[in-house]
Amino acid sequence: MKVGVLALQGDVAEHIAAMKRAVRGKGNVIAVKKPEQVGGLDALVIPGGESTTIGKLMQKYGIDKAVLAKPELAIFGTCAGAILLAKEIENYEQFSLKLMDISVARNAFGRQRESFEAELRIPQLGEKPFHAVFIRAPVITRAGGGVEVLARVNDAIVLARQGRYLACAFHPELTRDSRLHRYFIEEVAAP
Ligand code: GLN
Repeated sequence: MKVGVLALQGDVAEHIAAMKRAVRGKGNVIAVKKPEQVGGLDALVIPGGESTTIGKLMQKYGIDKAVLAKPELAIFGTCAGAILLAKEIENYEQFSLKLMDISVARNAFGRQRESFEAELRIPQLGEKPFHAVFIRAPVITRAGGGVEVLARVNDAIVLARQGRYLACAFHPELTRDSRLHRYFIEEVAAP
């Protein structure tokens, strides 16, 4: 399996390291900076960072078109990456790929809780809670019919899947737990 990590801005190195741990030698992990690299991928990670900046750079280099031209590509969007997957961004006018039938609100946890950590119950990853790091995180405010909600913080949706797309509001690349990356590779992206 060939996995790309979009390397325009944000948590690129951390995702490459986490993805390498998750594929355990059974795949190739590369940094993606050019549209020509997208065609050969099975899966793509869009990392956390600043969604406006990543979106602008995707458009500038034509990576948006390359991604949209490849509907079989599995995509894991984390934090800013989740915003870029969403059909609708409630509180800002900005670019997104609109591939998942979800609405998101940016920076949704408010000032004093802009960054926090939480133990999430994610049945798909097993019994052990997943330690999730939230940094000026979005929430998923609406999940359409084909969207499976995988985790919440209080009532807010923070992890969801639609077919070959996985969106999460937190930063799984910042902890040593590779279960979510592995779930993406083995369950979401696996042909
Ligand atoms: N607040 C950022 C945005 O809206 C996302 C934060 C992150 O990716 N850690 O783009």
